[in-house]
Amino acid sequence: MKNYIVCDLETSGLDPQKDKIIEIAMIKVKDYSIVEAYQTLINPGIKLPFRITRLTGISDTELAASPTINEILPDIINFMEGIPMVGHNVEFDRSFLASLLGHLPFSTYLDTYELTKILFPHFNDYSLSGLANQLNFNHRPCHRAMDDTIAAVELLSALLERAGKLDSAVLKHLIMLLRAGNSPWSEILEELPAAISENDRTLLENSFFAISINHEFKKNRNVRLPDINIEYYLGQEGQLSKQLPNYRLRPGQVKMAKVVETALEEKKVCFIEAGTGTGKTIAYLLPTLLWALKTKQQAVISTNTINLQEQIKHQDIPLLHSMLNLDFGFAFLKGRQNYICLKRFLNIISNISTNAPNAYLFFARVLIWLLDTKNGDKSELNITGPENYYWLRICTDAESCTGNSCMWQSNCFISRARQQAENSPVVITNHSLLFSDLVADVKILPSYCALVIDEAHHLEEAANIYLGKKISFMELKHWLLSTGKYFQKASTAFASADNQLKKLHLETYNAIKELLAAINTFVQHFIGKSTEYFGHRAGIGLIKFRLKQDSEIVQTNHADYLNLIFYLKNLKSQIKAVSTECGCQTSSEQRPEDCKPTDLRNILNKLDNYLEDLSLVWENAPDNHVCWAEISGGTINSEINCVFYATPIDIGHLLNEKLFNKAKGVIFTSATLSVNHKFDHLIKQWGLESLPPNQLETVIVNSPFNFDKQCFLSIVENLPQYNTEEKQYTEAVTQAIFSLTERLGGRTLVLFTSHSMLKAIYSRTKPLFDDAGICLLGHKIDGGRTRLVREFKKGKNNVLFGASSFWEGLDIPGNSLAQVIIVKLPFSPPNDPIMQAKMEIMNQPGFNGFYELSLPRAVIRFKQGFGRLIRSEEDQGLVVVLDGRITSKKYGKVFLNSLPIKSYLSGDLDIVIKQLSLWVN
Ligand code: SF4
Repeated sequence: MKNYIVCDLETSGLDPQKDKIIEIAMIKVKDYSIVEAYQTLINPGIKLPFRITRLTGISDTELAASPTINEILPDIINFMEGIPMVGHNVEFDRSFLASLLGHLPFSTYLDTYELTKILFPHFNDYSLSGLANQLNFNHRPCHRAMDDTIAAVELLSALLERAGKLDSAVLKHLIMLLRAGNSPWSEILEELPAAISENDRTLLENSFFAISINHEFKKNRNVRLPDINIEYYLGQEGQLSKQLPNYRLRPGQVKMAKVVETALEEKKVCFIEAGTGTGKTIAYLLPTLLWALKTKQQAVISTNTINLQEQIKHQDIPLLHSMLNLDFGFAFLKGRQNYICLKRFLNIISNISTNAPNAYLFFARVLIWLLDTKNGDKSELNITGPENYYWLRICTDAESCTGNSCMWQSNCFISRARQQAENSPVVITNHSLLFSDLVADVKILPSYCALVIDEAHHLEEAANIYLGKKISFMELKHWLLSTGKYFQKASTAFASADNQLKKLHLETYNAIKELLAAINTFVQHFIGKSTEYFGHRAGIGLIKFRLKQDSEIVQTNHADYLNLIFYLKNLKSQIKAVSTECGCQTSSEQRPEDCKPTDLRNILNKLDNYLEDLSLVWENAPDNHVCWAEISGGTINSEINCVFYATPIDIGHLLNEKLFNKAKGVIFTSATLSVNHKFDHLIKQWGLESLPPNQLETVIVNSPFNFDKQCFLSIVENLPQYNTEEKQYTEAVTQAIFSLTERLGGRTLVLFTSHSMLKAIYSRTKPLFDDAGICLLGHKIDGGRTRLVREFKKGKNNVLFGASSFWEGLDIPGNSLAQVIIVKLPFSPPNDPIMQAKMEIMNQPGFNGFYELSLPRAVIRFKQGFGRLIRSEEDQGLVVVLDGRITSKKYGKVFLNSLPIKSYLSGDLDIVIKQLSLWVN
């Protein structure tokens, strides 16, 4: 690319219709050399939000002395003069310029963000400063237009260098994918020497991928370690102390490790609540590995979140390896859909079509990723939004895997991961694979004798999903689209127009199109009716509700449902006809490469499953199941989707029969499992009541932190109840949050139980915080969780408003966080379908659903929220609860008794504020 400009804008906000440009910088490149630069501040005629002033360092005074946009417009248009514009996240700049000018003064625009994601697919930070670190170029991370423009010039040169070094066959495929993705980068890369070379190799003929290198894995199930006790590793002056520079003995860790060791040896079921700071991961990894090596049996460890798996992989296992002087022992295994299928991917990129351009941009990224990945695991790609559906077209699935007859089997990622798991004493997996494997015909996990479940408070959620049925209409549509391509392609493979197979394939392709239309009609009507019924704006947020046969929603959509079933059955008979005809025509030249009876059988099986599951959810719900619908998405980054579920109501006997009985020793652990120092609620719900007492153990390992010294808990008693008039309630909560936070200059995390309440309080408190020089960060308003937490950790005067996902897994040690405000006790919403169904059963005579189910869940959640504050021995701070029910209701003491703190203050807001100020001082 010889001639172009690089441009960056700073603005007063994110909305091009509402917000203003406050700074512009441009650099002009002609014949590969920088020839001109332009930069100016722009007077927006408004006061800047505090967050923008802090982010850019630009003040209102500086802007007041700057020209207005109308004064500099001719300069801007003149500078751009019809050559391509390059920028990082250029769509943002383009939309502001388009809104301002009404037309675009440059010929085309190219986004370095788009190309960086493709050429460096494994990066985890695509911001300019993140890229500067990863690619080693200079960038002042101060959000000023000229600094960002210079960084974008450097980034562009790094991108062209990387693309220029690609093998010519890879580069040519990349260009084809970019072209199919309508990316202007295809034309730029076509100019590179490797793209012009005569070499016509194909990806299929060559081994470009990292997986083609034969990685040996160690067969290590028979290794024996000397019989050394836990103290030798974790005790004072033990092996762990030699590995950690700031080592402190953690008696809780030693205690927990010994409990795990004994429980596995004695084949017990054991619940262990390990308070924050115990070091619980090492406390179960070590004895589990020692047990597996000693007994030559396998153990499985299951976690709920990817974050914990990553922590185990990158921190805990390397630490254990150096302690034990070993370099083996653990294998990671995830569900099939996490691994790429080389056969499916290469099939797609060998048959590029012109529809779904965004999918091809994603496949371009996958192509480059395959050059380096050794695991083929999608978590390395940081997939977001619709990319998840594109991934479904290239991931491994049981239906399309041809196993031994696949030409890629020796390089296949899932096969290798399974082999590695077979050969490792301990396999680390996640709850979703643990449960999906229980009901799968072909198992992925090896058989195991010991099971450790970390983040066990999420076990039931995973069981609900995987032991029941789930139909995602978005997934169904994406599967049909790729299946449709299969039939379309197969039909063109038959030479003669009167060939019966050609005709049948075409008819099947048309049947798929009709089915897709029927699905669209059903989903559109269903979503429209449901959002209207529940008073939601279509597609905003999340709605969950029960599907009852006699409900208005089911009845009014029944005709569309029958229509959908008709077209599903029609497709099924069409495919059966193809299958029969395929059986008749045995001549190989008449049958295209991937039109094999096994593929057709797989498609038929999948259709049968959809038919069965749909009719089960809609009209034949079995006893002991609750059927429900979830409508979500519809925001800028996510398409609206509708998912149906049939969930078993009582999972206790299923867990017992399918999971716990398989293993001889089972450990459940988490930082939050007990309620009022007991585990009875879980023992009962998970069907473990009948275990003999000597086979069941419960242990609480206290946190090493001194909560009574490090933390001050207070309860504000004089705010109105949530069910009083909404305006009165939100006004009172707004005032309370602002007064409590202002005194600390921010440094506060506010936990909400619903996003609608978060939004209501956000809009009221925002101007107050702006005036006070405190930066308010609202989840899904100012950004996603990762970005907001990063910003919160960096700044001093921040307040973070978060709902559901912020109650746990958030680790903010140090000074940025000094206060956690819990707005409301976190009871599940009364309309939660699974909760409703469980409560109906539990509220029968002799049971008390509130005390047995609703209260324990809320207490666990409350403990998680409380646990956000103190994350290290140095942390200190305040927890304020704005829900007076904790002291006024009888059940409130269960919340208080379950916390690791003995004292608290309660009273009116004024008194609480006064006491808090004293404590802080
Ligand atoms: S063996 Fe199965 S999963 Fe692996 S590449 Fe081949 S078809 Fe895909």
